[in-house]
Amino acid sequence: MIKNPRFKLFGIEDYRQYIGDKKVEQIKEKADPLKNSFVSHCNSTLYGGGVAEILAPLTILMNRIGIKTEWRVIQGTPDFFSITKKFHNALQGDSVNLTDLKKEIYEWVLKENSLRNRADHDFIVIHDPQPLPLINYYDKKQPWIWRCHVDLSEPDKNLLNYLKMFIDKYDAAVLTLKEYDQDFKPPRVFFNPGIDPLCTKNRELSDSEIIDRLEHYSISCGLPLIVQISRFDHSKDPEGVIKAFKKVRENIDCNLVLLGNVATDDPEGEKIYKRLLDYQNEHIRILSVQDSALVNALQRKATVVVQKSLKEGFGLTVTEAMWKKAAVVGGNVGGIKHQIDDGKNGFLVSSIDETAEKIVKLIEDENLREEMGRNAREKVRKKYLLSSCLENYLDLFNSFETIYRLDYKK
Ligand code: UDP
Repeated sequence: MIKNPRFKLFGIEDYRQYIGDKKVEQIKEKADPLKNSFVSHCNSTLYGGGVAEILAPLTILMNRIGIKTEWRVIQGTPDFFSITKKFHNALQGDSVNLTDLKKEIYEWVLKENSLRNRADHDFIVIHDPQPLPLINYYDKKQPWIWRCHVDLSEPDKNLLNYLKMFIDKYDAAVLTLKEYDQDFKPPRVFFNPGIDPLCTKNRELSDSEIIDRLEHYSISCGLPLIVQISRFDHSKDPEGVIKAFKKVRENIDCNLVLLGNVATDDPEGEKIYKRLLDYQNEHIRILSVQDSALVNALQRKATVVVQKSLKEGFGLTVTEAMWKKAAVVGGNVGGIKHQIDDGKNGFLVSSIDETAEKIVKLIEDENLREEMGRNAREKVRKKYLLSSCLENYLDLFNSFETIYRLDYKK
């Protein structure tokens, strides 16, 4: 018997306090025609990275509102994940040597996965490029949706042409931003992901809970604290953060914590983490742990939260920090530049010098930090809670209900 009130299954009713009665009723009405529909979300990792962070609470929320929803994770070999990480980077602007062997390994692993998983749902949502070719191996009886979370604004054209072979078989492609749009056959829908304000990572914490968590990892709060929390990935520019921090320390005594984790579908993370360890000293802490309560405590206690990404599909770490009224300095890229209104609810930066300059400004001005933090929370409340993301999925599923689903059911 579970008695601890923290272990509660949350549902859309719990969002009333943030989004109001009218919005909750509207979402429930949109869920009504979909009651008892059967949905599958499929991605490539159970933890590490934004997609898993969204799917964990979203699949619960969808079930709680009456839509039977599963979360499937594909299995893959190290070769497969090394290839799909190259694809991920190439979709975000790198280039990839697209050999026949890479294509064969990629497609073969998905063929194997298709044998392990049935596709008897009413809607199938495939997240990101890793499981994309699954669509080739089923007798398609329902709408398939490709939900792409990466920044597609400057993809490797050769790779995109190859992936289009699969994408064009889908019934819709969901992209985060209009600027990521590409010439795909299926209609494109644009919406943001969102955060769950009720989970361990984002729920309110008391001062003593924050201090306990930080003390557990011997993180000192005696000096201003600069924090970046991200998968260990070159697109998050951890080395740039360290360089900016060193510049800040030329003027102000402070500490830096880089907290990261390594997703199971990301073979590069471990190497980057090990490389960063060389920078550790009494003011720079590099931590690799999977601890949502620590993420929460750090985002609340930080004097400045940095997310100095060079590429960022959306940037949930920014949303999470803004929700906690943190003063955020974020790279002027991808989804971050839509979340942060420069100078109003955070700062957007494009260089190491600018990052250092804005960190100093924020450390020195408590009023500015508080004002930006208040604005940041309000923006997340209005636009980036998981309830909005749920509503967008409901709209999308309902559009199939009327346009296509009857055909599929024939
Ligand atoms: N995250 C975490 N622990 C870490 C690093 C990251 O729990 O040590 C979480 C972070 O809180 C966020 C997600 O991983 O929810 C990262 O999502 P984001 O969209 O920022 O970047 P992605 O990893 O998807 O590129």
